[in-house]
Amino acid sequence: MNSPAASRPTAFTAILRGLGRRCPSCGVGGSFAGYLKIAGTCDHCGEPLGHIRADDFPPYLTIAIVGHIVVPLVLMGERFLAPPMWLTLGVALPVTVILTLGLLPRVKGGIVGLMWSLRLRGDETQ
Ligand SMILES: [Zn+2]
Repeated sequence: MNSPAASRPTAFTAILRGLGRRCPSCGVGGSFAGYLKIAGTCDHCGEPLGHIRADDFPPYLTIAIVGHIVVPLVLMGERFLAPPMWLTLGVALPVTVILTLGLLPRVKGGIVGLMWSLRLRGDETQ
């Protein structure tokens, strides 16, 4: 029988499970109780997750990721296609909103997975 420390997944595994909105410990249960609310405990293994506070890092990281996707595409579109402004905004703004709303909970799950693997709570300065 493995000890709890021996069966604890690696940080990489915990991040991947978090990106899939799964529990970083077991990978089976969900880690979210809503769109962005972390569940108090895993509904499969009972691992406590609700105490982990990712704070503003998931939105910062999501903005960086979406910005690095949308801005180069807009600039390349302007350079090579020169579409009218209404078309640029009509495509770029919905793509930005959809990417942001789609990535934010997954990025948050990945951050929570990383924090869980490092045994961080998010309130270490208190
Ligand atoms: Zn679990």
